[in-house]
Amino acid sequence: KPGLTAAVAIVTGAADGIGWACAQRLAADGYRVALLDLRAEAAQARAAELGAGHLGLACNVTEPAGVEAALAAVVAQWGRIDVLVNNAGIGDQTGATVQQNVEAFDRVLAVHLRGTFLMSQAVARVMLQTDAVAGRGRGAIVNLGSIASVTGLPSRNAYSAAKAGVLGMTRAMASEWARAGIRVNAVAPGYVRTALVAELERKGAVDGKGIAHRTPMGRMAEPAEIAEAIAFLASARASYITGAVLPVDGGWTTF
Ligand code: NAD
Repeated sequence: KPGLTAAVAIVTGAADGIGWACAQRLAADGYRVALLDLRAEAAQARAAELGAGHLGLACNVTEPAGVEAALAAVVAQWGRIDVLVNNAGIGDQTGATVQQNVEAFDRVLAVHLRGTFLMSQAVARVMLQTDAVAGRGRGAIVNLGSIASVTGLPSRNAYSAAKAGVLGMTRAMASEWARAGIRVNAVAPGYVRTALVAELERKGAVDGKGIAHRTPMGRMAEPAEIAEAIAFLASARASYITGAVLPVDGGWTTF
């Protein structure tokens, strides 16, 4: 059972995929975890699955009022926030660029960019009012980039722009808050076996065999492998790392 001094982590988009793997990993590391997701019931069920001392909350990361309400609930419950993982995300529209529509483009940018901005801003307001903890500072934020942040994937315009933007925001916030003791980093996963990728595979936008062939390590990642890297960047073990982007891509962007 977490003690009064256990650190508090918020994971957005925690009901599924990488977010859920991350929530499990952080809970195993002793954090009290707030699982935020569009799907309230799924988030609550996941929190219950983790056991007592965790919280599942409805939150659309693109809505300022929803973000404020979720954070108010976390602070009311535990009084502090040590870690934020900006994981909530949606896949891109697929197909030829000349046929894509701007509403879908805007939706993708909103979840990844507006969401990361709103969550980080609201969490930092809490962190900046909290005393620094030895080794841990005032807190750590980990954002989700992608191989799409740095390489060209055909027709994935909004997603690539959003994920490159997430890296830009990671560096901007890291530089602003470094002296205040808030570290901000990003992981950049390759293809991971999640519902998001399964859906792209179903639509024919992603070819599983082709991905395995293209990846130097010859396979997709499991969500737990991304969670491991996120947990590291969030932890005191990464106490001198800020503004960094850690590829977790089986060598995709390296070889
Ligand atoms: P997923 O679809 O399996 O899970 C995403 C979760 O986010 C869902 O539970 C969904 O309900 C929630 N969500 C969506 N929009 C939201 C919103 N506006 N507010 C709150 N919650 C919302 O996705 P995943 O594959 O686990 O991806 C998680 C993150 O990792 C995303 O940022 C994604 O871009 C990134 N990523 C994924 C891969 C991959 O191959 N799966 C690769 C690189 C990066």
